[in-house]
Amino acid sequence: MCQHQPTCPSADSSDREAAHLVAAYPEQGWSLLCNGVLCFEDTGELLPDGQIIAPHRSLGTDHVVTAA
Ligand SMILES: [Zn+2]
Repeated sequence: MCQHQPTCPSADSSDREAAHLVAAYPEQGWSLLCNGVLCFEDTGELLPDGQIIAPHRSLGTDHVVTAA
């Protein structure tokens, strides 16, 4: 599916999120990478083979937000 040179990481690579965006639908909360991976805004992913990757936020968002 990917036609970049050099080829982007494949969907089964741990590096899959480094692939290029080919479509983004922020209003729907997802985007499509050129390796066929669907990325959701909660960082969950859906791979082309139907495998689901659980959300995995890591950049300083692991603190608990307390309601006012
Ligand atoms: Zn690519």
